[in-house]
Amino acid sequence: MSGMRCRRCRGPAAVEVRRHNAAFCRDCFVHHVHEQVRRAIEGFHMFSHQDRILVAVSGGKDSLALWDVLLELGYEAAGLYVGLGIGGYSARSAEVVRGFAAARGARLIEVDLAREYGFDIPTAGRRGGRSSCSVCGLAKRYVFNRAALEHGFDVVATGHNLDDEAATLLGNTLRWQTDYIARQYPVLPAEDGLLRKVKPLFRLSELETAAYAFLRGIEYVVEECPLVAGNTQLRYKEALNLLEATSPGTKAQFFLSFLERAAPLFARQDEVELRPCERCGQPTTGRFCAFCRTRAQILGERLAPVTPPVSDRDVAAEASEEVLPAEIHGGGAR
Ligand code: SF4
Ligand SMILES: [Zn+2]
Ligand SMILES: [Zn+2]
Repeated sequence: MSGMRCRRCRGPAAVEVRRHNAAFCRDCFVHHVHEQVRRAIEGFHMFSHQDRILVAVSGGKDSLALWDVLLELGYEAAGLYVGLGIGGYSARSAEVVRGFAAARGARLIEVDLAREYGFDIPTAGRRGGRSSCSVCGLAKRYVFNRAALEHGFDVVATGHNLDDEAATLLGNTLRWQTDYIARQYPVLPAEDGLLRKVKPLFRLSELETAAYAFLRGIEYVVEECPLVAGNTQLRYKEALNLLEATSPGTKAQFFLSFLERAAPLFARQDEVELRPCERCGQPTTGRFCAFCRTRAQILGERLAPVTPPVSDRDVAAEASEEVLPAEIHGGGAR
């Protein structure tokens, strides 16, 4: 970094952003990050200063950086932390999230999976028919939407960065999962019972969000989730990083050009109709939502509607498949 000058003020630089072929001093880098987020929010009409925003926070750098930026930009942003019950990792994550909220006087909503729904992620991974990451992603998406609706928020924001989105797109493209590709957009509009979902960090790389968190003095959980081994998205990230090392900008071009030129070609054709889950009322395409079905399987319970009661035959006949997208990592709150 020695000798490099800030692109904006010509002072000594602290952070280099190779993709932009630029370097910034501390203050100008913070400004650069805010500008990228502002561009994302305004360019995609994500929300306004009148909206109530719920930020899904995991305790990692991305989601806390996002929360910080939104508060700095003057948005009404509360945090939502989902307790996954993954041992010390979850305990430490909860600590940093609480510390962040307390230091800024920001509102934090906590939902503990075990307490509210009777299972944690390690148990789910052992007992259910899905991998830990798959149940985890499903549970987080479910809780984000449900908690946001119940608490009267207008939009749910997640900390997915450029690296996350590019890796997910690579995975979806390798398999040509056109229905997932169609939903891989920085803003998903609200539908019956589903809140609007946005990803305001999609223009920033992982290096940029890490540098931002560091320069802003944000304490975050550096350790990886212990269940992450075998997570396919990590391999896609590594592959993209290999390309990026010799051709800086590859990642950004892959994802940002997709948004500009390819995404419209994948626009969803057959809109699926959503109706309330007979068990919990959250939107689904079948009688019961994927979360309720998975939960019943994990707990070894029979899945029955809350009201009105149906015959055993009807319950047994339940076979419809959920078509909400399952992201490859299933992360959601990083
Ligand atoms: S790696 Fe991510 S998605 Fe998988 S269990 Fe851990 S937190 Fe959940
Ligand atoms: Zn500067
Ligand atoms: Zn349900």
